[in-house]
Amino acid sequence: MATTDSLSAALDSVIDPISGKGLIASGRAAAPRLADGVASVVIDVTGLSADARERLGKAAEAAVGAVAGVQTTRVAMTAEKRGRKIIAVGSGKGGVGKSTLSANLAVALHRMGRKVGLVDADIYGPSQSRLLATEGMRPTAQGQKMDPVPSPHGIPMLSMGQLVKAGQAIAWRGPMAANALGQLIDAEWGDTEILILDLPPGTGDVQLTMVQIYKPAGAIIVSTPQDLSLMDATRAVDFFNQANVPLIGLIENMSGYACPHCGETSDPFGQGGAQAAAMTMTLPFLGRIPLDIGIRTASDAGRPPAAEDDDTVFAPLAQKIADWLNPKASPSF
Ligand code: ADP
Repeated sequence: MATTDSLSAALDSVIDPISGKGLIASGRAAAPRLADGVASVVIDVTGLSADARERLGKAAEAAVGAVAGVQTTRVAMTAEKRGRKIIAVGSGKGGVGKSTLSANLAVALHRMGRKVGLVDADIYGPSQSRLLATEGMRPTAQGQKMDPVPSPHGIPMLSMGQLVKAGQAIAWRGPMAANALGQLIDAEWGDTEILILDLPPGTGDVQLTMVQIYKPAGAIIVSTPQDLSLMDATRAVDFFNQANVPLIGLIENMSGYACPHCGETSDPFGQGGAQAAAMTMTLPFLGRIPLDIGIRTASDAGRPPAAEDDDTVFAPLAQKIADWLNPKASPSF
């Protein structure tokens, strides 16, 4: 019977032409998965010619297909991209502010002079058109490639929501969603250097296919301070580790509530939970964002708070991400 170990062994019997090592040992192939007789594996084709990619793909398919118990083999190749870095924003569950944070981090990085684009890959609830005030704008296409929609806040963006009718529930499976996402990521991004990827909440197959194929340079995890949310965040950490995506750190959202009337701060969801959890997971803690009704109303109105001159919440987080991307330019945190 096939196990992931037997799949890995089969993949290691195929030699990577550049390093001379097996596909797993050389890091070319990510950890293979097996479910219901279907084996899936993603191969990183960076640095290989078109011929070599094809040969490697066929050899991997043959090796995995020969493992007892495998009925179907799916080999996906990562697209080779140079220069542009994808930063994935993920969460263990929905409603923790992942999209709000993605939009505001993009705007804050843009205000620091970085060229930033945003891809809304949240197939379950794409909300970036509202957050970035591009509702009703449809991307145009040049030949095979889509042109991102310009937002009034300087962030070109594309959303899964633009591929389907508004409000339509999207029940895509992993490979389908990854194909659609491919159109958004391989769009005409011009000189965009950082692409923020607002992932669907959760850690299932859809997310795994997306990150395996599009290889983010790093990932940020968003959590609220409650224990339950933190348990989900732990799953998100395991998920990115398993997918070999480096973790930039954890952001605690909806942390402490400043009463707009009396000014007193209370902690409806507890306090410091995410920071403590980050420490136990040896994960950098990037900071906390208060539960602030102003953030919700401005976001709903398509005015990201990070676009305001008096923003003191998102700019420091964006700075940490910029430092992480370019550790030589500034001290690490
Ligand atoms: P997710 O992408 O994780 O599902 P959203 O970004 O859509 O979450 O946020 C869910 C809701 O919470 C939205 O109405 C958003 O405006 C609100 N929200 C997010 N962060 C905050 C915050 N720090 N303070 C107040 N409201 C917030």
